[in-house]
Amino acid sequence: MGTKDTELNNKESNNATMSDNNTDKPNIAFIGLGNMGAPMAENLLKAGYTLSVYDLSADATQRLEQAGASIADSPKSAASNAQVVISMLPAGKHVHSVYLGEDGTNGLLAELPKGTLVIDSSTIAAADARLVAEAASKLGVDFLDAPVSGGTGGAIAGSLTFIVGGSVEAFAKAEPILAVMGKNIFHAGEHGAGQVAKICNNMLLGILMAGTAEAINLGVKNGLDPKVLSDIMLQSSGRNWTLEVYNPYPKVLENVPSSNGYKGGFMSKLMQKDLDLAMQTAKDTEVETPMGAKATELYEAHARDNGDRDFSSIMAYHDHSVLS
Ligand code: NAD
Repeated sequence: MGTKDTELNNKESNNATMSDNNTDKPNIAFIGLGNMGAPMAENLLKAGYTLSVYDLSADATQRLEQAGASIADSPKSAASNAQVVISMLPAGKHVHSVYLGEDGTNGLLAELPKGTLVIDSSTIAAADARLVAEAASKLGVDFLDAPVSGGTGGAIAGSLTFIVGGSVEAFAKAEPILAVMGKNIFHAGEHGAGQVAKICNNMLLGILMAGTAEAINLGVKNGLDPKVLSDIMLQSSGRNWTLEVYNPYPKVLENVPSSNGYKGGFMSKLMQKDLDLAMQTAKDTEVETPMGAKATELYEAHARDNGDRDFSSIMAYHDHSVLS
């Protein structure tokens, strides 16, 4: 019997006992510990889950080791004693490579025992989520696309919104785990539905952020104080989420990326990725999205030099001095 078979047998027996931690909580493998994944994993640890974690970056895993997770050196070894796998990766190509592997069949899915629940919270194309779900289903593994909204603040506070696509049964199994990391858990429909709902939301967010930055810039260039103008719009019909909790102009709100050199948060290149996904979906399904197309154009230009800055740095498209 090869190593893989031995490991699978071990995992099947682990499956029967569910967890090592003398509770009814399943053991969790968490893959991808960036701006979002790290605080999400920390909240699971605080809630008493046993976590084995993997990330390409040693810095990312170190933080989780200090919080009580065990560190694995591959997705396979992270999942070797887990009943649930959660991933929070940048884009579809990373999800594809982790679960399906380079040739489509030699990824993590092929190593998991039947009945394992896989929850992918990365924002990726609905078509990619359906592809992985189909491969999982053939192997007896339950797959959910469960992208999130709420940003790094929501990830730290455990108040994310999860937008889930997949079977009702898998959703029911995932719900108590998602409830540790989020406040609102929606079942959007079948595989891929979570991703469709997510990109509709993020297309709107990109439009709102670009529009809010544009309005504040117009006011500032006409002599208004950005905080006074923001307070006025917040109590008027221009009110929106970016004004409430994520103002793009520095020092209007505390503890937001714009007041911290646009560090952390949600990178412009990830917003550009989500807008590209929305535009691709619109094209494939022959739906017109003129506002989304304009926001995509603005973020493409902006992300060329500011891809790693938070997406509220679109403010600099109008006023470069906000970066200094
Ligand atoms: P991030 O770049 O900060 O983190 C991604 C992590 O994945 C990194 O630590 C990276 O090293 C790791 N990684 C990449 N490839 C890997 C692989 N093959 N195996 C293991 N680890 C790998 O990104 P983020 O901001 O945490 O975003 C993650 C996902 O969540 C993205 O799809 C993003 O669109 C989505 N999202 C982000 C936010 C936000 O505010 N940051 C909000 C909602 C949704």
